[in-house]
Amino acid sequence: MQTNQNLSPLVIILLGPPGSGKGTQAKRLAVDYGIPQISTGDLFREHMSAQTPVGIKAKEYIQAGLLVPDEVVLKMLFERIEHSDCAKGYLLDGFPRTIPQAEQLAQHESMKTRLLVLCLEVSDEEIIKRAAGRLVCRHCGTIYNRDASPPKHENCCDHCGGEVYRRPDDNPEVVCKRLSVYRSQTLPLIEYYDHSGHLTMFEGNQPPDFVHAELKRYIDDSLI
Ligand code: AMP
Repeated sequence: MQTNQNLSPLVIILLGPPGSGKGTQAKRLAVDYGIPQISTGDLFREHMSAQTPVGIKAKEYIQAGLLVPDEVVLKMLFERIEHSDCAKGYLLDGFPRTIPQAEQLAQHESMKTRLLVLCLEVSDEEIIKRAAGRLVCRHCGTIYNRDASPPKHENCCDHCGGEVYRRPDDNPEVVCKRLSVYRSQTLPLIEYYDHSGHLTMFEGNQPPDFVHAELKRYIDDSLI
């Protein structure tokens, strides 16, 4: 399997609406290429369970299906990508979500390297269906689907034995709000990265293994 061991740093940005499979794919690709997956949503959930000031601030936005203010996200993200494990590159899942976030990221030192922006396209109908069935491990973040890929034992993660739960912001009302926020604030990023020549679109309605194979084939070809 090709990894990123002997190459210049690689930054991958996964774009797509909530529930498009970014988290599932990001976890697999991070292993494939030996780079950390950085999910701003996961970082906020960690802050919320530790009840840090960032977590307390983020909670009100997350519960309402709104974006956490840029200054809070940017500070948290930049602290994370300074870690030594990002020296060979990293994979962003859920960041950037606004044009100002993308502009700030573009100025970071790590962006003077190979950048791939991969966007998963998924229909609204499929997103609503997936969110209704999505379950997540509270401990390691493994993502399950109640119908398509449930954990072997109810409420218990196959990998770490952690508690598997339903994200409160996956309830239908909040999902609709998150979708409308995606359309108004995050969709403009597609044009932004298309314009910069970094964007590739992928059909995300397919099963996870198929999407993973497509993404991996594309990244492997780009690394040659
Ligand atoms: P996710 O796990 O990526 O679906 O993110 C869950 C929630 O965290 C989002 O609905 C936002 O409220 C918040 N969030 C995550 N990433 C960002 C970001 N880059 N900018 C603003 N809010 C974010």
